[in-house]
Amino acid sequence: MNKRWTISEIREFVEKNSDSKLLSTEYHGFSQKLQFQCACGNTFEKTFTKFKNKNQRKCDVCQPPKESR
Ligand SMILES: [Zn+2]
Repeated sequence: MNKRWTISEIREFVEKNSDSKLLSTEYHGFSQKLQFQCACGNTFEKTFTKFKNKNQRKCDVCQPPKESR
C-alpha cells in the first residue's frame, strides 16, 4: 500500500535526504509537480515520486537528466 505523504513529511524527507529545499507549501498527490530549490540556488520542478524513487534530487544543471534510449 502506498504511503500518503503530507507536505511536512515531504519537506522533512527533502531536508534529510538531499541538499535541496522544498519550496512548495501544498501537496495534492504524487502526480503533482513540486517546486524545489537546489543547493546551487536554481529552482526546479519535479514530482515527489521522481525525487524520491528516481533519485532526481538536484536541478538539471547539477544533475542533467539521463537520456533514455
Ligand atoms: Zn543545482
